[in-house]
Amino acid sequence: MEMKQRILVVEDEEALVVGLRYALVRAGYDVVVARDGAEALKRLRADAPDLVLLDVMLPRKSGFEVLAQARRDGCRAPIVLLTSKNQEIDKIQGLDSGADDYITKPFSLGELLARIRARLRRASPADEAPDELVLGVAVIDLRAMRVTRDGVVEDLSLREVDMLKLLWRERGRPVSRERFLEEVWGHERFPTTRTVDQHMVKLRQKVEHDPAEPRHLLTAFGVGYRLEP
Ligand code: CA
Repeated sequence: MEMKQRILVVEDEEALVVGLRYALVRAGYDVVVARDGAEALKRLRADAPDLVLLDVMLPRKSGFEVLAQARRDGCRAPIVLLTSKNQEIDKIQGLDSGADDYITKPFSLGELLARIRARLRRASPADEAPDELVLGVAVIDLRAMRVTRDGVVEDLSLREVDMLKLLWRERGRPVSRERFLEEVWGHERFPTTRTVDQHMVKLRQKVEHDPAEPRHLLTAFGVGYRLEP
């Protein structure tokens, strides 16, 4: 029997708890609920959820405090913030403090479920990219975020690392621009498929011996890109 993935919902608004629980159970997840920060930290330790939906506006302890404490406690599960405020400062604060994504209330359940799927896919250990990828003459250290090619060392951005991880997971298969946007740019509002192309240009310059004739980061015409190991 396949183990259900467990989602911890941290939310004090009862109507939202009911709606979320219903939708998540229907989507096949095991759901645990905490209604304040202290309970959330307890549930994190006791239930080891695969993903956490964390409301920012909680009684007593804020979602940000819970987030920081959870990361200090060694929680590595993806955490998606539920925020009712739509201010840039909150987004930056949330992502800086260790959240993986956030979604602004009111949100559609379809969008929330898509974000959850994307985060769980990324977090799945079976899909984990190795620390080091070797693509032709390039040796890529994904943890140190560095690529060494033809004796030259260059830093990789977090986006570039995430793009490489996604490409590696799907190696040999095309990855659409839309999927890059969903999985790598998930929390941003206005990236376009052009953004993906611009990042790919840079990535090829760092990884490919001849960026004009790429051998590993290939174009999948009409779709997106494909990694050829
Ligand atoms: Ca709340």
